[in-house]
Amino acid sequence: MLELKAINKSFGDKKVIDNLNLEIPDGSILAIVGPSGGGKTTLLRTLAGLETADSGTFLLNGQAFDPANTKNQEQVVGVVFQDFQLFPHLSVRDNITLAPKMVLKETAEVYNQKAQHLAEQLGIESLLDQYPFQLSGGQKQRLAIARAMAMDPEVLAYDEPTSALDPELRQQVEQLILNLKTQGITQIVVTHDLVFAEHIADNILKVVPK
Ligand code: ATP
Repeated sequence: MLELKAINKSFGDKKVIDNLNLEIPDGSILAIVGPSGGGKTTLLRTLAGLETADSGTFLLNGQAFDPANTKNQEQVVGVVFQDFQLFPHLSVRDNITLAPKMVLKETAEVYNQKAQHLAEQLGIESLLDQYPFQLSGGQKQRLAIARAMAMDPEVLAYDEPTSALDPELRQQVEQLILNLKTQGITQIVVTHDLVFAEHIADNILKVVPK
């Protein structure tokens, strides 16, 4: 279980996360909804260690951890960004294997097997030698998910996973997230879309601008 206890975050004198307490059980889906400016992206960035909380505690299975501690190679929360942030000059395979190779220091045998397995799991195995510019929006998103999963995170988090896609792809994303849930993966989904949130989530956190 991932727990957040009394998390606070301000930018200057603007309080963006105010004494947030959260429990995210293993294998569940938490949707974070709310209007623009409510702090949803800031919360995800804080969980991923890209922002530092001003105070509060993060616990994984009862053990405190610091998401911003880059010395800790075990990534707790892997984030799939809204604009995917793929490496344009690398193939699909190399997008997936870069962090396992450079950060986790896996051997070529292990990271290549991992890329094959993740690509199969996400239905992009025929695209492993293509480049991001050759992919559709939905395929890019699947690659971004595979790349996040390649770091073996405990939790996968998505920033607005439906917003960069055509409306008809929303259902496919829903199905993908629900498939990952059946595999026991804990997920956090930041979204403006309450209908989408209600379809997929076990729990919904509503945030409002302070
Ligand atoms: P949206 O749905 O539009 O993405 P959000 O709920 O994700 O909004 P955040 O992006 O987390 O909201 O922003 C919350 C507030 O924090 C906003 O008022 C924003 O201007 C402010 N903010 C975010 N990042 C920074 C930063 N690096 N420096 C200063 N203020 C920031």
